[in-house]
Amino acid sequence: MITKAKFCHHCGENVSESNDSFCKPCGASLMTLETGIQCHMCQEIIQDTDLYCNHCGHFTSFDA
Ligand SMILES: [Zn+2]
Ligand SMILES: [Zn+2]
Repeated sequence: MITKAKFCHHCGENVSESNDSFCKPCGASLMTLETGIQCHMCQEIIQDTDLYCNHCGHFTSFDA
């Protein structure tokens, strides 16, 4: 399942009002596969390579 992110997973930019498939500031793809780990903040599925949750913008850390 592929969804469009509300927040850039790479730089955390709010892209909820953007119709583009790419983040304007950093160029990262905003289309994301829903296969990965759960965000600790909003419990949505994010990818384990993401720096920021693309649902709530929470900065994710994987050194737990
Ligand atoms: Zn970005
Ligand atoms: Zn989240």
